[in-house]
Amino acid sequence: MTASARLLIVGPQGSGKGTQGVRIASAFGIPVVSTGDMFRANIKGGTELGQQVTAILDRGDLVPDELTGEIVRDRLSQDDAANGFLLDGYPRNAAQVGHLDEFLTARGEALDAVILLDVPREESIARLKLRADEQGRSDDTEEAIAHRLDIYENETAPILAVYGERGIVDSIDGVGSLDEITERIMSALSARGLTLAA
Ligand code: AMP
Repeated sequence: MTASARLLIVGPQGSGKGTQGVRIASAFGIPVVSTGDMFRANIKGGTELGQQVTAILDRGDLVPDELTGEIVRDRLSQDDAANGFLLDGYPRNAAQVGHLDEFLTARGEALDAVILLDVPREESIARLKLRADEQGRSDDTEEAIAHRLDIYENETAPILAVYGERGIVDSIDGVGSLDEITERIMSALSARGLTLAA
């Protein structure tokens, strides 16, 4: 099933945005564009980009905006993103919002909705620690987790005010079962007229 939708999912690390993003994107038949996944794939594959960003990811810092923007523009220019996409992890600060706006405006496009997964900081930390034990991600150390949550609160959360002014933010309670949360997101999108093609 394919329906046009240009979506962004935002939430603190550990909010479950990766998992929910995949579910929502597959329901709409649109690709997930996750900058974190793209960086990790490059690190795993030992590419030049991967080597450039390994230490940055391990510290929990942000990769420079120019580099990140280039990767996102390349990805969104591929055919499968022509009809829609779900961005996960980008934009993450005010400068990146500006870059994305410029790119989409030039294509005559705009984001349809920004899904904010609302999860308390303590819950995020607990989930991230669990993921660290299960997946062994190198940036899931206690120090890097706290640093990433600080960046989220200081740099990423403020971008919601910008999108809020455009009236496109749907704040979703991110505590509950996976299915419940997916339901909440789908009904918020449906209230915006973003429904699955029949
Ligand atoms: P994530 O999987 O979204 O938590 O991202 C993992 C890491 O990738 C982050 O901690 C950053 O180091 C890097 N990263 C992902 N997205 C961005 C972005 N939009 N801007 C800068 N760095 C990013």
